[in-house]
Amino acid sequence: MPAPAPITQDLLTLPRKLPEGGPVNLVGLTRDGMRDALIAAGTPEKQAKMRTGQVWQWIYQKGVRDFAAMTNLAKSYRELLAETFVIEIPEVVERHVSADGTRKYLVRIAGGHEVETVYIPEEGRGTLCISSQVGCTLTCSFCHTGTQRLVRNLTPGEIVGQVMLARDDLGEWPEPGHHPHDEQRLLSNIVLMGMGEPLYNFESVRDAMKITMDPEGISLSRRRITLSTSGVVPEIARTAEEIGCLLAVSFHATTNEVRDRLVPINKKWNIAELLEALRSYPKVSNSERITFEYVMLKDVNDSDEDAHRLIELIKGIPAKINLIPFNEWPGAPYQRSSNNRIRAFADIIYKAGYASPIRKPRGEDIMAACGQLKSESERARKPRRVEAARL
Ligand code: SAH
Ligand code: SF4
Repeated sequence: MPAPAPITQDLLTLPRKLPEGGPVNLVGLTRDGMRDALIAAGTPEKQAKMRTGQVWQWIYQKGVRDFAAMTNLAKSYRELLAETFVIEIPEVVERHVSADGTRKYLVRIAGGHEVETVYIPEEGRGTLCISSQVGCTLTCSFCHTGTQRLVRNLTPGEIVGQVMLARDDLGEWPEPGHHPHDEQRLLSNIVLMGMGEPLYNFESVRDAMKITMDPEGISLSRRRITLSTSGVVPEIARTAEEIGCLLAVSFHATTNEVRDRLVPINKKWNIAELLEALRSYPKVSNSERITFEYVMLKDVNDSDEDAHRLIELIKGIPAKINLIPFNEWPGAPYQRSSNNRIRAFADIIYKAGYASPIRKPRGEDIMAACGQLKSESERARKPRRVEAARL
């Protein structure tokens, strides 16, 4: 191995292995990826681990976007970094604040596409709902995002960037001298429940969550991250092994006939196959209970029989059932179940020994509620959807 070159301006003349076409964004690179990029830019291999740690802390622990502010690095090295790299997160183009404090961000990503990110403050915690795709390939008939074609997957930088832009808006980067663990966090939890199916963008979601969990950065525990899937069965075990976060599953029905219509991915992997994958999940990741999401649709899936069938189906799985009153959107082919019906359903499940919280709709006045997210810029409707909605 050649002796490590001193870091000087001369390094700029060395051949580099960085991809062509403009500066590389450091946001979204894994630790290994950042290390490789720093080496390719001329950082001596022997120093690369330490430099990665330093740059990582500036970006993810302190929220710094300007290389010049990285004061524990030599000035010439900062200049080298600034000529080769950028630290960029997606741009917030609209910000709406609901009467209940919920904040919705319309976020523009490369190519002019838009996704939504929602911050939900609660007593003692705050949850950020992030998107993983622009649109969705799936066509769940009650979901507003499902009316939108998949435009593209988000990159890891665009996913972790949503966490960073929310921290910017909340003013939650630590003051110099303060450790991020010192105070109670405004942004304490993450749910992958925005636009898109996270398990159809597995690698990017995984890398972004690894960055979010890294103890030298944003440092959120894996137990504070919940990934929601419609039921991409082959990726469920990988979620436990490679991310280790909590899992929520969009269950929504107790017979294949109804689930086929509500969550069409059921035609590919049916209820029995889904349950089999869920049974081993908590053991693999040593995690807590699985959340079963169940949207309450009037006269579709909300009978007492449904509640009893649900209990039978999930027997043996450590579970909590999250009942979601349907959030209506213009043109939606369903209605929300009545409060009495939702309470009766919850009661049956509760008496069988399961927690059955009814999700409080948040941010409805700004169309920020679950399943309502849809960017105004992407209006292409899916022709299939008309069929899917005909119940
Ligand atoms: N694609 C993933 C995650 C995003 S959706 C998934 O389907 O799980 C997050 C949750 O909101 C899912 O449980 C979804 O079924 C639910 N949802 C979608 N539209 C809704 C609506 N209009 N009202 C209530 N919940 C909805
Ligand atoms: Fe996609 Fe989830 Fe909406 Fe289904 S519920 S269309 S998987 S975002």
